Amino acid sequence: MRVGQLWHWIYHRGVRDFGAMRNVARPLLDQLGERYTLARPEIVAEQVSADGTRKWLLRLPPAHPGDKGAEIETVYIPETDRGTLCVSSQVGCTLNCTFCHTGTQAWARNLTAAEIVGQVLVARDRLGDFPGGTAPTDGGLVPSGEGVRAVSNIVFMGMGEPLYNFDNVREAIAVLTDGDGLSLSKRRVTVSTSGVVPEMARLGAECGTMLAVSLHATNDALRNKLVPLNKKYPIRELLQACRNYPGASNARRITFEYVMLKGVNDSPAEAKALVRLLAGLPAKINLIPFNPWPGSPYECSDWEAIERFSDIVFAAGYASPVRTPRGRDILAACGQLKSQTERLRARARMMLEETLAVGLD
Ligand code: SAH
Ligand code: SF4
Repeated sequence: MRVGQLWHWIYHRGVRDFGAMRNVARPLLDQLGERYTLARPEIVAEQVSADGTRKWLLRLPPAHPGDKGAEIETVYIPETDRGTLCVSSQVGCTLNCTFCHTGTQAWARNLTAAEIVGQVLVARDRLGDFPGGTAPTDGGLVPSGEGVRAVSNIVFMGMGEPLYNFDNVREAIAVLTDGDGLSLSKRRVTVSTSGVVPEMARLGAECGTMLAVSLHATNDALRNKLVPLNKKYPIRELLQACRNYPGASNARRITFEYVMLKGVNDSPAEAKALVRLLAGLPAKINLIPFNPWPGSPYECSDWEAIERFSDIVFAAGYASPVRTPRGRDILAACGQLKSQTERLRARARMMLEETLAVGLD
């Protein structure tokens, strides 16, 4: 009963100090206050994009003696009827994907389950998503309406490889999806992996969340270069793990992420190879325009190349191929895409309708 009360105050009411838990006895609250904290990660900076996307830089206190504390990023992507929070699972990443900024940064440490959940709590505080909260009035979009939650979906697509921090990610997901916790449906939580094959079956069995796989190439020679982990777990093994992923079905498809790199992986032949590779798998394909960073060795594909690629993928029956670039102004701009935003939006709408038509959320 006590645990139920505490969870209610923490996750449903969003209280930030034990003293606010009115139906819990004072001596217990004092004890809890001596040993634990409900403090959130500190917001060091907040940026709001013209399209309503919000990015926070969060500072984490030291997690253990000797740890200096760390900074991580969390991104909020609102739509009118939903809001997706992109959370980090590690400070830095031990894998060195050549197109990824996180991969170039120094590895620091795994996040604790509390630090992963803490990102969601900070977002809900800031967006007025707890009872009695108020939404910010700074121009950022916050979805609202009967039964609409500001943070309705979570994607593990921030810094780090979630399957290399499996235990803490699993514990965080347990809190996110527990009815007494943050009460999110498992279908609204997606874990993205660069392809840690031995942990994928556990993810399905022990967490039951949706799976996203960072594929990015259709042959091992290129994938070895883009995602060096491919040398350990090549495409054939990765796709076999996807075929075996518990719970995958046409209603619960696996998302394959494919970052569009100019002249590297964006030819029509590769689009066709991608379609052939995924034949028979319950898949969605997410084409991600490359987001350049200072010194990055790649460029984003031209819009024409992305469109050509997406047409081939679309003709093969895949919904939702292009991830609408959001927050480009705050996540470093991919210049040529800016003028295309409207066109992309129209396309995204079309894809969304297609998605709904086949009964997915
Ligand atoms: N480590 C996990 C999850 C975090 S990365 C993974 O690799 O899947 C989340 C997604 O962002 C991955 O698909 C990754 O390949 C992609 N990504 C990384 N850097 C990017 C960039 N500069 N532009 C576009 N997508 C990028
Ligand atoms: Fe970046 Fe993900 Fe590769 Fe790590 S595994 S370097 S976070 S793309």
